[in-house]
Amino acid sequence: MIENVVSPDHFRPVGSDALVRLRHTYKVYRVSDVGVVALAGVDLDVMPAEFLAVVGPSGAGKSTILNLVGGLDRASAGVVEVEGRDLGLLEDQALTEYRAERVGFVWQGTARNLVPYLSVRDNIRLPATVRRAQVATKHDVDGLLELVGLTDRAKHMPGMLSGGEQQRVAIAAALSNTPAILLADEPTAELDSESAARVLDAFRAINHEFNVTIIMVTHDLMAARRADRRIRVRDGRVLHEGVPVDPISEDGRVRLPDDAVAALGGVDLEAEVTPDEVRLRRRSETGHA
Ligand code: ADP
Repeated sequence: MIENVVSPDHFRPVGSDALVRLRHTYKVYRVSDVGVVALAGVDLDVMPAEFLAVVGPSGAGKSTILNLVGGLDRASAGVVEVEGRDLGLLEDQALTEYRAERVGFVWQGTARNLVPYLSVRDNIRLPATVRRAQVATKHDVDGLLELVGLTDRAKHMPGMLSGGEQQRVAIAAALSNTPAILLADEPTAELDSESAARVLDAFRAINHEFNVTIIMVTHDLMAARRADRRIRVRDGRVLHEGVPVDPISEDGRVRLPDDAVAALGGVDLEAEVTPDEVRLRRRSETGHA
């Protein structure tokens, strides 16, 4: 492993109270003798209680960001700091404890989130029971079930639930350990739009109720829009950050963010629409950009 070469203090912005801080963060995977650059110098702050969506094409480095913040992997260089801890400086045992106590995970496939032979209630209790230090009380589990809208499913086995319901159980289970941060990797990828909306409702509810910080990787722009903020990652870099654009109105108009209006104001524009984004360009006098 390449040791961290950047001092966290050097990059700590004065007055910033971000919960998660990435500074010049690199991740290089060695495959045979070749280095695959997954992250190429990411700077990112996530504030306490923020709900952040990370979007971008496959292979961009989104999951790598989650793995580093979740302590599942270590950066090759740069800083990954959560709640003031520099994860790169933690011994393996301390990193394992950090992962168990401060982080909840919700993965895309429900198989990775839930134990199939335990009831919904026992699945939600499991993380705290494994930890033993603070076994979740009945009230906690009931409260979590209510928040994710599954009170009447407590005794069901996961296999008796729909994919969306299983994801909502996974969110409750990830929360039962009272983590500071919830990391979700494509949590709505396998769901129809109605189920996805209810899963996103559950994220919003626990975000609001527990002030838990959420970082959600998604391909789904509808899902990204439910977050407070989204960042786009491509080729291992954060391309831009911004608040979500409002939905299309009934007369087909889209309101641009104020910053974009200010930057573009008064010029004649044309738009190029792709499945991934809308590019705006100044229209040239000949009609071509
Ligand atoms: P995304 O989540 O945006 O699809 P990832 O973070 O999974 O992207 O991957 C970023 C890049 O790192 C890709 O080129 C991927 O092939 C590579 N990568 C990810 N994990 C590994 C690994 N364990 N070993 C080698 N290369 C990896």
